[in-house]
Amino acid sequence: MKTIHIGIDLGTTNSAIASFDGEAVSVIPNSFGENLTPSIVRIDRRGNLMVGRQAARYLETDPANTRSEFKRLMGTDVATGFAASGLSLLAEELSARVIMSLLSDASDALGFTPRAAVISTPALFELPQNHATMRAGKIGGLQEVLLIQEPVASAISAGWREDTPGLWLIFDLGGGTLDISLLETREGMLRVMDHSGDNFLGGKDFDNVLADWALDRLRQEYDLPDIKSPSERRALLKLKNACEQAKIELSRAERSAIVIPELCIDGGGNPVDVDLEITRGEFEKLIAPLADRALSICLLVIEHCRVSADEIGRVVFVGGPTMTACIRTRIGEAFGGRIAPGIDPMTAVVRGAALYAATAGLDATPANAGPRPLKGMAVRIEHLPVTSDLEPFVVGRFLPGPGEQLPAAVRMRREDGFTGPDAAVGSEGSFVLQASLQRYCRNVFTLAATDAAGREIPLATPRFAIVHGVSIADPPLSRSVGVALADDSVHVYFPKGTGLPARKTFVHKTVKSVSAGGGGASLSVPIVQGEFYRAHRNCLIGSLEIDAVGRDLPVGSRIEVTLSLDRSGQMHARADIPSTGKTFDNIIHILIPTASLETLEEALKTAESRSDQALKKAFRASDARSARNVNQVPALLVEAKRSLEAACGGDYDAGQRLRRLILEIEGTLDAVDQALEWPELVQEANEKIEVAVYWVSARGTSSEQNLLDQAITEARSAIDSGDALELDRRVKTIRRLTDAAYHRDPRSPFLTFDWYSENIASATDVPRAAALLDEGREHYRQGDADALKSINSKLYTFFPGTEEERKRSFDSGVR
Ligand code: ADP
Ligand code: MG
Repeated sequence: MKTIHIGIDLGTTNSAIASFDGEAVSVIPNSFGENLTPSIVRIDRRGNLMVGRQAARYLETDPANTRSEFKRLMGTDVATGFAASGLSLLAEELSARVIMSLLSDASDALGFTPRAAVISTPALFELPQNHATMRAGKIGGLQEVLLIQEPVASAISAGWREDTPGLWLIFDLGGGTLDISLLETREGMLRVMDHSGDNFLGGKDFDNVLADWALDRLRQEYDLPDIKSPSERRALLKLKNACEQAKIELSRAERSAIVIPELCIDGGGNPVDVDLEITRGEFEKLIAPLADRALSICLLVIEHCRVSADEIGRVVFVGGPTMTACIRTRIGEAFGGRIAPGIDPMTAVVRGAALYAATAGLDATPANAGPRPLKGMAVRIEHLPVTSDLEPFVVGRFLPGPGEQLPAAVRMRREDGFTGPDAAVGSEGSFVLQASLQRYCRNVFTLAATDAAGREIPLATPRFAIVHGVSIADPPLSRSVGVALADDSVHVYFPKGTGLPARKTFVHKTVKSVSAGGGGASLSVPIVQGEFYRAHRNCLIGSLEIDAVGRDLPVGSRIEVTLSLDRSGQMHARADIPSTGKTFDNIIHILIPTASLETLEEALKTAESRSDQALKKAFRASDARSARNVNQVPALLVEAKRSLEAACGGDYDAGQRLRRLILEIEGTLDAVDQALEWPELVQEANEKIEVAVYWVSARGTSSEQNLLDQAITEARSAIDSGDALELDRRVKTIRRLTDAAYHRDPRSPFLTFDWYSENIASATDVPRAAALLDEGREHYRQGDADALKSINSKLYTFFPGTEEERKRSFDSGVR
C-alpha cells in the first residue's frame, strides 16, 4: 500500500492541510472547495460546533460565541468562553476543533482519516506553545504528531526542486503576525540561524489603516460619533471586512472600491452610504509605515547574524499580505531581489509540512489498511521518499505467490532514461539497488525483473518515486536546559546545540526533608533554560514538585531526575525516588506567564516600583546609560496601563500586548540591574582570581596552571568587553581549578571544617549538623585529617548553599 504523508498548517488566521504521496503534493480543499479554512470556531447555545468559513459568518453578528486568533493564546491556561452554551475551551482545544475539521476534509479526499501528521509552528514558539500544539493534534484525533518550524516548512517547499546553497530569508507576514527567519543550507541540510518578528503586525493592520482612512473620508461628509457602543463596533467590523476585500483586490487591480449601502455607524439613527474608491498608489502610501517596520525587523535579524543584505541568496515570501505588490518590492529590493519564484504564499507552509512528513517517515495511512489488488508478482520496496543523498539505496523483496518463480535479476530504470546495472536476487527474494537521482526533483523509477532466460516478469508495483531535496538537520537546542540547584548553580542536562531527541538522567540529593503525607511542604526541582552559571539569571521553564512521598524523606535522599526532549522540543520530566519507590512523572509545570489579568496587573505594579528603584539606583551610581534605559520605561508603562484597561474590557489582543509590554519592561529593567550589578560581578571575579592564583600556584599541576592563566586572560577580556555571560563562564572555570588545588592541600579538611563551624546557622538541619561538628572537633584536635574529611562530607549534606542562594535559585530543593 502506498504511503501518504500529511502536513497541517495551523495558522492564526487560516489553516490548511496537504498530502504528499511521494510524487506530488496536493493541498486538500475543504467542503467549500477552498484551500484555506479560517481558524475560527463557533459554538451555539446547543453546543453545536462550526469551524471555518461557516463560523466566520458569525464573527460580526455573534462575537460572544465565535472565536478567532486563539493561536495567540496557545500554551497559556486562558480559557475562551462561549456565552450561549456556557462552554469554555483552551486554545489547544479550539485548535483541535480546527484540526478535526481539516482531517475530515482529508478523509473525504483520501478515503481514510490520517492517523499521523506534521504540524507547523512559528519559530518564535517556545516549549509550552509547542507542547500545546502537540496536544491539539492528539485531541484532534492524530495518533502521531511531529512539529516543524514554519520557516523550515516554507523553505522546503521553496527549495526542494532547486539547488540554492547559502542563506535564505523567510519573510512570513500573516493575518496578525510577522515572522522573519534566516535559514542556512549547507550540504543539503537546513537550519534556522536566527528568527525574530512582531506578534502584532499583519494583514489586519493593513485593514485597520484602510478603515481609518475610510472613516476620515466619511467624517468629511457626515457627522460621525466616536465608535463606542457594541452596535457601532459591529458597524466598524463591517467596514473593516469591506476594507479587507478592497485590500485583497488591490493586490491584483490598480483601484478598488469600498461600498456598503446604509451602514449604521451611529447605532441606527442616520445610516451612511459608504462608497469610496482607492487606488493602489494611495493604499501603498497608507501602509508604507507598516512596510518600514517589517523591513527594519529583517535588517535587525541579519545584523544580529552579522550578515549583509547582499549575502542573502534567496527571499521566500509567505503569508497572504505578501501578495501586496509594494511589500514584495520593498523587501525584495532590500535583499538583492532574489525572490524565490513560483511559490504560493498561502500554501507554502502546509506543502512543506507534508514534504517533511515524508522525510521523517511519518505515514498517515491507517495501520490496518488492506493490500490493494495485485496483478503480477508482489514486491516490497523500501526507500526514503525524500533524500539529500544523490545515490540512495533501494532495498526490496519479491514475494512470489504459489506457482511463481523468483526472478533471477532485477534492475531499475529512471523514467528519463538512466538504467542501472542488473542486481542479483537472493534466495529469499531480497535485493539491493543503488539509485541515481537528478538533483532537486522527483525521480520516478520502474523496476524490471527478469528470469534466468532474460524474460521479463510482470510486477504488481513496479513504479516508485524518490525526491531529491533538502533534509532538515534535527533542530538543535537553542538554549541550554538544566536543573537549578540549591547553591544557585545549574546542572546542565542538555547544553545549547544538543541535537534532539535527547534524554538524560542524573542523580541529585535532597536538601530538605519532606514528610510522608506531604503536609504542605514540598520539594521543588526547578528546570531552567539559559546559559548563565548562576541559576537565577536563567529562565524558569517548569518544575517538578515532590510532595506526599509515602514515608519521610530525609535530607540527602537520592532523587533521580530524567529529562527527555523529543524532536519537537516537547519535554517530559520525571523524578524517581529509589528509597520510597515513588515516581513523579510528567508533572512539569510549564511556566508561560499566563495572561490572567490579575497576574498581569500585579506584574505591572511590580514593574512600576522596580522602575522607580532602578532610576534611583542608576542615579546613585551616576550611571548615565542605565538612567537613559530606565527613562524609556515610563512610556511603556503608560502603554501597558492602556492595554490593561482594554484587556479588562474583554480585548484578548490587548491582554497579549500587555504581556509583551511587561516582558519588554522587565527585560529593560533586567538589563539595567545587570549593568548596575556589573561592578559587583567584576569585583567577585577579581576576588576569585586572587584566590585561584594563590591555591593553583601552591597546589595546582602545571596544566592546571596553564588553564588558569588562559581562563584569567579570557575573564579579563570579558571584563573589557562587558560580557556578563562570558565572565560568568570563566569565573566558573576559575572556581573549579581553585577547588581542585585546594583539596590537594593537607590543610584543606581543617579549613573546610572551620568554615562549617562558622556557618552553622545556615545549615538545613542545625541539630544534626551541630552533632557532627561536636564529633569532628575531637578529630580536629588530634589532627586526624582522614576522619575529619569523612565528617566534612557528611556536613556537606547540610550546607547546600546559603538560604539566600536557595531562594534565588527558584527555591531549589536539590543539589
Ligand atoms: P496566518 O498565517 O496568520 O494564518 P495568512 O497567511 O493566511 O495568515 O494571511 C491572512 C491575511 O492575508 C489576511 O489578513 C488577509 O486579508 C490577507 N490576504 C489574503 N489574500 C491576500 C491578497 N491577495 N493580498 C493581500 N492580502 C491578502
Ligand atoms: Mg501562516
